[in-house]
Amino acid sequence: MSAARTTKPKPKKTPAPKKPAAKKRPSGATLHVRMYDVGFGDCFLLRTPTGQTVLVDAGFHSQGKGAFSGNELAEQVLADVKALTGKARVDVVIATHRHADHIVSFNSKTWDALEVGEVWLPWVEDLTKPAVVRLWKKQQAFAYGLARALPSFSLKAEVREAVDFLLWNAGVDPKAPLAAWSNADAMTTLREGFRNPGARRRYLPATKALPETFTTPVLPGVTVHALGPPADPDLIAHLDPSKDDETYRALLMRAAEMPGEPLGPVRHPFGDRWLADGPPPLRPDELKRLDSLSRNVDPVFAAKALDDMINSTSLVLVLEVGSARLLLPGDAEWGTWKRILASAEARTLLKGTTFFKVGHHGSHNATSRTLVEDVLPKAIPAMVSTQEGKGTYRNDIPLPELLDALEAKGLKVARSDRPDEAPRLFKPGEKWIDLEVPC
Ligand SMILES: [Zn+2]
Repeated sequence: MSAARTTKPKPKKTPAPKKPAAKKRPSGATLHVRMYDVGFGDCFLLRTPTGQTVLVDAGFHSQGKGAFSGNELAEQVLADVKALTGKARVDVVIATHRHADHIVSFNSKTWDALEVGEVWLPWVEDLTKPAVVRLWKKQQAFAYGLARALPSFSLKAEVREAVDFLLWNAGVDPKAPLAAWSNADAMTTLREGFRNPGARRRYLPATKALPETFTTPVLPGVTVHALGPPADPDLIAHLDPSKDDETYRALLMRAAEMPGEPLGPVRHPFGDRWLADGPPPLRPDELKRLDSLSRNVDPVFAAKALDDMINSTSLVLVLEVGSARLLLPGDAEWGTWKRILASAEARTLLKGTTFFKVGHHGSHNATSRTLVEDVLPKAIPAMVSTQEGKGTYRNDIPLPELLDALEAKGLKVARSDRPDEAPRLFKPGEKWIDLEVPC
């Protein structure tokens, strides 16, 4: 066997002419995927071959860089669901994580008209769990602390804007840090809204199994595999992929022999003692300590750590329908991926992917080299919901090196912000791009 490995590959035989297309179902059954142009955000509508619908996220960027603002996205999705199925019903609504660019549209009365079969959320949204409450209290205290400390930093306007955005996306309005959590209304819809508020909520994964596999009566013919977020709250933390040589940016920087400073290990900028185990506002002595710390803390770094933490709560799902396997990783970053890719069973599952929703709008640390080069099959279609970034935070989104690597692997990638450049198998519409995934 080892001899075979070292032998030069034999010249390929000429393929038999007119070989029938491999394993294509005669029925031509497809799973319909629609990616809405929501700018830096996600909104995907799926329809299974048997006519069930799944909505994966409904958010857009605060500055409305995509084709939707206000209630428009909710109205469009509702109209499309009715057109697809004749009913104002979505069988499963999935909210991958609580970032506004994934859920802000759920803050709309429009959804009151929609019946849902089930709503799926990451397990960290199950507020009946004490560990969950502790996690969010920490996160909130950190966010409020940063928002309160911001005036004592002298920041360039563009940097301040970036920090404000990160804080806002983390659920805190930097201009009114003591106001209610800004994504709270959207979360309320997801937890107890829609036309039938009592519809089943699933908080996933519900066990420590990786992958956690289940079926549900509301999606006949679909097998669901949940791969993330990690079941352990301690694992919901940002791990730096550059240390593991896993990002395309790390590769590029090393190749250019640039100093590794921007890739240094991620540490907690305020230290653990700032993760107060209680609700904000902070006490006066805490504020005073924050104030003195502000001279030594990089607020962009701090805000980014907050952002990464919430991305780490993303649901990572594979939906299996016939021969189709849709990989839907939300904005999961390297911390989640590292654990998934260490599981032989999860890797085997991912090797059968036939459609890939590129994670986190094509950022540098959501799609690892191992995933692209060793795990994902060649030549599958992929969609990236994104808006070319400019400015401090969203620079290099989508990361050109990542897009190049996907292309080198033969993946066919459609970008929401460049529908005209989508490969031929995609069908660009006015405010979306459609795809039929064979199953
Ligand atoms: Zn996002």
